[in-house]
Amino acid sequence: MAVQWVQAQNRLSRRTERLGVTMSYRISPVWWPLLVLASPAVGPWLLLKNRRFRQNRARVAGHNQARLDRAVPLNLPALDHLDLTVLVEWRAGEGFLGDAGVSYLLETDRGALLYDVGFGATRPAFAHNAARLGFDPGQVQALTISHLHSDHMGGLAAQRARQVTVAPEFLPAAPMPCFLPDRATAPGFQAEVVEGPRPLTAGIASTGPLARSLFFFGLTEEQALVARIEGKGLVVITGCGHPTIEVVLQMVRCLSDEPLYAVGGGLHFPVTGGRGNRAGIQFQTLLGTGRPPWQRITDEDLSRTIAVLNAAGPQRVYLSAHDTCDHALDRLLAELQAETQVLEAGATYRL
Ligand SMILES: [Zn+2]
Ligand SMILES: [Zn+2]
Repeated sequence: MAVQWVQAQNRLSRRTERLGVTMSYRISPVWWPLLVLASPAVGPWLLLKNRRFRQNRARVAGHNQARLDRAVPLNLPALDHLDLTVLVEWRAGEGFLGDAGVSYLLETDRGALLYDVGFGATRPAFAHNAARLGFDPGQVQALTISHLHSDHMGGLAAQRARQVTVAPEFLPAAPMPCFLPDRATAPGFQAEVVEGPRPLTAGIASTGPLARSLFFFGLTEEQALVARIEGKGLVVITGCGHPTIEVVLQMVRCLSDEPLYAVGGGLHFPVTGGRGNRAGIQFQTLLGTGRPPWQRITDEDLSRTIAVLNAAGPQRVYLSAHDTCDHALDRLLAELQAETQVLEAGATYRL
């Protein structure tokens, strides 16, 4: 009976997601009696979390401002091209598996790096898509992890242990750095915390870690990638986009005065629904917004981000569907002035 309820609820949330309706339940009514029973314990815990969340929010604003103040222009080499091949994404081309994680292979005329590893070996997408694409770890000179969340660093156990985890067949044969945005381990790699904006490899640089206070996950550091293409301008690639694209672009402006050519990756807009809903719970809109569970990411928030992106004026935008719902994607596709598309696993985009 409960299972049928949950299935019906999942069908309902999928339907409301398609219709762009914001009223779908984030927790199925099936769970409500349990929530009432648990409230004497959950209530005080949430209040404690909220206090920490607000404290972190103040700290984060200070951290990011100090980093922006300290930032100096980077000597970004003019690349002939940058090819972005999607190993893991929510949307997938025929024959590829979609998943709510991220892994991008970035190849330039100066080398290659792998940005994130999705859920790693804990789900089939990474290995399946990598095999289909003929990906070999020997192709890249470094692994870079955007931030220490399960969908980017190799799964939930990896996140809990702060240990970047990939299947043994994807470990490099020769020593290779793993550039991290915060303290963590990366067995099989030479783990290196990126302290601030700096070149990484293949002519691609890191913005350095930028912070965000997340309600459930605490203070989270995330690094975006930046590169410069000859005759075009700057390319900026994010992971989940937690620090907000506004802050990422503020940092990019401190690092180079070249025009902005392209923005790609996660913008984090689970507005009407989320990816990977399970057992009648929309995890992304409930736990993954970064806000307290009684608040949501709204259409007004999205309007502000669209205005920021239009003011920044990239020519191209490559959206990640792994942390942004279909309703938000539709609005971005319609309202961004840039030529905009949604990234698909298995595809290569020449930037
Ligand atoms: Zn993510
Ligand atoms: Zn994340």
